Amino acid sequence: MKELIVATRNRGKLTEISQLLGEYVNRILSLHDFPDLPEVIENGATFEENALIKATSAALATGRAVIADDSGLAVAALGGKPGVYSARFAGDGATDSENNEKLLLELSGVPPEQRLASFRCAIALCLPDGTKQTFRGELEGVILETARGSGGFGYDPLFLVQQYKKTLAELPLDIKNRISHRAIALNKLKSFLCNS
Ligand code: IMP
Repeated sequence: MKELIVATRNRGKLTEISQLLGEYVNRILSLHDFPDLPEVIENGATFEENALIKATSAALATGRAVIADDSGLAVAALGGKPGVYSARFAGDGATDSENNEKLLLELSGVPPEQRLASFRCAIALCLPDGTKQTFRGELEGVILETARGSGGFGYDPLFLVQQYKKTLAELPLDIKNRISHRAIALNKLKSFLCNS
């Protein structure tokens, strides 16, 4: 594929998506290359809806092929929260560490065996010919009581991947990009593009 816009301003997501799609797409652009595009209101009830809102808006404004990722953390003991509110769990404009602090606070006193969580991702694809499609991925893990590691972004330092006994922030990016919710969804996208 010649060119693809990734409709995000999140550097962490962009790094991961670029590494995963780099060999398949000649030129990857992001919203940093289109600073005048308006902010979209992510008011969907699901990751799929929000991914489609972001991808459709950028595709309409640019007339080019676009993907958008909407993703987040679902914690079983919190009834699936923070879910679609993951980026703003501690309030609008919250930093990753503020969101992590709030998560630890809400889970205080919850024992390890009840701290199961999953990262979920929806990738939406919008092509200039009108094609719209979404792809999902999920990664299961456990929320720790203290942060570990300095890689990744968002809730990665609190998210233990049991298979590796490491948090996503402790794992090298190439391993995160083999197992993550985003990698699973992007691999489905790649298969779709290869077969269409
Ligand atoms: P979005 O930009 O509205 O999709 O919000 C995604 C939010 O979910 C991020 O700001 C993070 O808080 C969280 N999130 C999504 N994917 C990951 C990940 O791979 N690691 C850590 N946090 C993530």
